[in-house]
Amino acid sequence: MSEASERVEQWRKAKRKSGYRPLTLWVPYCAKSEFDELVYSRGQGKDPGQTFLDAVRALAASMGKTPELRLEARQQHRIEANVADDVIKRLVAAGAVPATALGAPAVAPSPIKEPLPPEWKQCGNTAHPPYDSNEHDECPIHANERKERYRAKQKAKKPAGKKPAAQETT
Ligand SMILES: [Zn+2]
Repeated sequence: MSEASERVEQWRKAKRKSGYRPLTLWVPYCAKSEFDELVYSRGQGKDPGQTFLDAVRALAASMGKTPELRLEARQQHRIEANVADDVIKRLVAAGAVPATALGAPAVAPSPIKEPLPPEWKQCGNTAHPPYDSNEHDECPIHANERKERYRAKQKAKKPAGKKPAAQETT
């Protein structure tokens, strides 16, 4: 790989890591210049993707669609806990449950699991962190372990005390 294309590859990886995805569109001839003009007029030359996103959202809004409110798992969890807490308070107020119920945390915090982006895969071994399938064909930890096993096997094959080079000449 040339130095320049390697740099491009690095840049792409960094972009992916920061949550961006490439998008290729085939559009009518005029679309490109119209889009460029929009980017320019919004001063978003450094981030035309933002212009695209703004345009998509503006179109959705013009169709009366409110942007889908996507709660992060963490927020959702907090809301659920608050609701449960509120329910207990009401039950206590109504005399249905003893006031001691208010003392303990309403909901035992369960481990929060953020949904993985579609490109990410969780290894069969849940102790291994998920990996980006765009960057790795398989779990990098597994790949590493296999390499190490192979190396250990190769080492074990070598007869002790003899140099492999000497062996070849005989
Ligand atoms: Zn693994």
